[in-house]
Amino acid sequence: MKRKKLPLYAQILIGLFLGLLWGLISAWLQLPKSFTGEFIKPLGVIFVTLLKMVAAPLVLASLIVGVASLHDIRKLSRIGGKTIAIYISTTVVAIALGLTIANLVKPGERLPASTRQQLMTMYADKTSGNNKAVEQLKERPILQPLIDVFPDNVTAAAADNTRMLQVVFFAVIMGVSLIKIAPEKRSTLVHFFDALNDAIIQIVDFIMILAPAGVFALIGSLIVEIAGEDISQAVHLLSGLGWYAGCVLVGLFIHTYAFYPLLFRWVAKIKYLQFFRAIRAAQLVGFSTSSSNATLPVTMKRCREGLGIPEEITSFVLPLGATINMDGTSLYQAVAAVFIAQALGIELSISDQLMILLTATLASIGSAGVPGSGMVMLIIVLEAIQVPSEGIALIVAVDRILDMARTVVNVTGDITVATLITATEAQFEPVNPVEKE
Ligand code: ASP
Repeated sequence: MKRKKLPLYAQILIGLFLGLLWGLISAWLQLPKSFTGEFIKPLGVIFVTLLKMVAAPLVLASLIVGVASLHDIRKLSRIGGKTIAIYISTTVVAIALGLTIANLVKPGERLPASTRQQLMTMYADKTSGNNKAVEQLKERPILQPLIDVFPDNVTAAAADNTRMLQVVFFAVIMGVSLIKIAPEKRSTLVHFFDALNDAIIQIVDFIMILAPAGVFALIGSLIVEIAGEDISQAVHLLSGLGWYAGCVLVGLFIHTYAFYPLLFRWVAKIKYLQFFRAIRAAQLVGFSTSSSNATLPVTMKRCREGLGIPEEITSFVLPLGATINMDGTSLYQAVAAVFIAQALGIELSISDQLMILLTATLASIGSAGVPGSGMVMLIIVLEAIQVPSEGIALIVAVDRILDMARTVVNVTGDITVATLITATEAQFEPVNPVEKE
């Protein structure tokens, strides 16, 4: 009898659970941290590296085919404009939600003064490295994110995962140009990229064989690192930051499980459980890797296979979203900015709060889909409301965990928008209900 294979999400969940168990046991038995670092962590690093390896070629091939098969440039610009408008609107909602929660709960006023002092001294040196980043960010022209869309060298852009938007730009212009050239020449290239695309999707399948082990290693080594030498001190700090972390997590939860369903149920008519079932593997990979970029291949796969979103939409909307749409990050930045101001005793006026709305939108667009980038971009928000960026020291201790949660929201937000665009501009393809991953 043929044994039924466990669905991908279940395999990843098992990896996650075992990783958690390993981290806790090794902290409890006080096993040397170096063991996990030297022998377990590399598996996780390899898994993430492989996912990143396929991201650029996948975006390039699928987007060129997607755009060239649209045959209609006006439709393309309409989809583009709509996608960006929805991305920005959902981000603004996320920030407003974050601001509301932080102003109601006032987590900064609940931070014990002793913990504040301890955090400021413990993490002062970590944030001093940020000073250079602050200077660089301050010198950036306002329109730098726009300038950054255009590559001066296509191969260099494709070689750097933080320049994904430049690859998107090149692929779009290449796809559009293919529509314009003679049909017989066009088909040669379209066939080539189509085959390349299929081959890369096959590579993603191979990489996913590693997913449970990779996730086990990522979570296990993370727990060991967080627990550090002195687990009781870690627990003490985390409990001091409980209100702050709680505000971020509650906000992320509401945005994901109440706000997005309003959109995909209302516009795309997708059932609540059907949606979350279809995308759980992508959410779990986002959670384990803390990187929307690394998760992109899985996000694209689940959108196509689980939700029936056509390739012309996934290949355009998702890479763009992984780069510019970060609802989770922007919500977190809003809560963090208010928290730091409250903890440092700085009063924020209504115009300061509006400033947070504006700058957190820009900062989340500017954050790359890699671990920890949201915290670096938080500096822009703090500077704009004249809160000293050294205050970041107050949130560093829990940032790694919050990064995992906000990446899940970032990924879910991209998928939600892809369903809205499909419902209004294309048609859902049939999905295989048996093959639930
Ligand atoms: N890690 C997040 C992402 O990749 C970005 C961040 O908020 O740091 O989506």
